[in-house]
Amino acid sequence: MTDKIFDIGIVGYGPVGATLSGLLSSLGLNVVVIEKTKGVSPTARAINTDSEQLRTFNFLNIASEIISNSRTVSKVHFTDSEFNPYSTIDIPKEDILGWPPTLLFYQPELETIIRDNNENYKNLLILENTELENIEDTNPIKLNIRNNGKDSSIYCKYLVGCDGANSFVRKHINAKLIDFDFDQDWIVIDAHTIEQIDISKDEVKQICDPNRLKTYVPGRRNHERFEFKLLKGETKKIFTKKKVWELLSPWINKNNSKIERAVVYKFHACIADKWRDKNIFIAGDAAHQMPPFLGAGMGTGIRDAFNLAWKIYLVINSKADEKLLETYQQERAPHANWTIQQAKIIGEMMEQFSYREKGEKYVPSNTGYGEVFPHLTRGYYGDPSDGLIATPFCRFDLDQSKKDSDEYFGWNFGLISKKKLPKEIDSMLKKMNIKVLTVNSDIINLKNYFQDASYLLIRPDKYLFSRSKTNVELKEALNELEKQFFLIT
Ligand SMILES: Cc1cc2nc3c(=O)[nH]c(=O)nc-3n(C[C@H](O)[C@H](O)[C@H](O)COP(=O)(O)OP(=O)(O)OC[C@H]3O[C@@H](n4cnc5c(N)ncnc54)[C@H](O)[C@@H]3O)c2cc1C
Repeated sequence: MTDKIFDIGIVGYGPVGATLSGLLSSLGLNVVVIEKTKGVSPTARAINTDSEQLRTFNFLNIASEIISNSRTVSKVHFTDSEFNPYSTIDIPKEDILGWPPTLLFYQPELETIIRDNNENYKNLLILENTELENIEDTNPIKLNIRNNGKDSSIYCKYLVGCDGANSFVRKHINAKLIDFDFDQDWIVIDAHTIEQIDISKDEVKQICDPNRLKTYVPGRRNHERFEFKLLKGETKKIFTKKKVWELLSPWINKNNSKIERAVVYKFHACIADKWRDKNIFIAGDAAHQMPPFLGAGMGTGIRDAFNLAWKIYLVINSKADEKLLETYQQERAPHANWTIQQAKIIGEMMEQFSYREKGEKYVPSNTGYGEVFPHLTRGYYGDPSDGLIATPFCRFDLDQSKKDSDEYFGWNFGLISKKKLPKEIDSMLKKMNIKVLTVNSDIINLKNYFQDASYLLIRPDKYLFSRSKTNVELKEALNELEKQFFLIT
């Protein structure tokens, strides 16, 4: 098809492949995407995104467009069958990253926004109607593909399988799925109201009805999402149109709404034991799957993409040793694993709450959703028990320009300093390509970070690497940064 050797080949143009291809292309790498279908996913699956994903989307300049096409919510309730809350989680309008922590979108629209932006990159080739049929572990990697019915080959230095739950690439690298023993059948219904109805559109409800667990999520504009757990012995056959309208009757009816689709899904929880073999990686649903109770499946894949993009960029541009790529699974797998367990817990909490209405006294041991995402388990320096190191760093406005801190640092490692830097450190920073920002500690968002510290080092993906007080401590942190990220200076 083409003899050109691409820097990266990506299999799958779902939300994760589309985001990763945009990120890598924005970094100037030559990227090819292979997708067996054509056009965006015609239906919604994912509906919820979060501030860390919006930070990633802002690297593609599309976060504001996504927000203006989505819905923010103020509360998530766990309720009884009559919708009376057992427990409520308040959702702030924005968090320290400067974006809404929960945002409800419509997947075909989200994918269109990502893909439209990808059209801007001349170094990105998208091959739709093209199926990956075989991978040859040569150098460069050879991909045998079937494009519009014709067989051909393309070549790339690195390959990322974003090819979903049944990933061909995962099987090729001999990765096994670790199953967390969670299999539940739920019917997922997407509907669109055609007239104004009396329904609270800024609250998500996890309805812990002992007769059937249910979820209501108010989608953007007139989109509504409902999920109902199948009871023992029920199969998809019993969900006739009549039955589906019956389930929806507390909210909507035939006169005020149209059903887009009603599909029975098997919710799974599993993770791959291996995310990389030499220059071949997997990301997104190819590497992990979880029940949607936390709305974090796609988000976990977008985090994979953000983590991998800058690492591949540094290695391809000889700014880091290829050992850096080993850190992709080391950093992402524990986080994905934690997220899967949280999603399972939400499902279990719903079951546990439902016992109450049966007259059983049961208080769930977990509050759900309120948990802080875990620290990185590597790739930081210092003591993460301060709740700051190894977590996503805040975003703040800069006085000097209209930029915010994320825009200022871009994809660089960054140092935020309260002090003038001595020459020796200044030259270390230049050698390591670290972008410096000198600030005064009055910036409210930075107050906590600068307690007992004068210097903050941040990673390209905006996790806080270290907090140092003295020049000696900063030098130690810089040496550690060079070592941990295998930087070539
Ligand atoms: C009911 C439901 C609700 C959900 N809600 C949420 C939510 O609110 N928030 C959230 O974050 N997540 C949610 N998820 C999970 C989310 O939908 C998935 O995690 C996400 O879509 C995975 O994206 P992906 O790009 O990794 O894979 P996919 O979207 O599965 O994309 C994989 C792509 O690879 C292509 N492909 C596969 N094999 C080949 C091949 N051999 N050659 C070429 N192309 C190939 C496929 O055609 C497909 O386009 C939900 C899931 C479900 C089922």
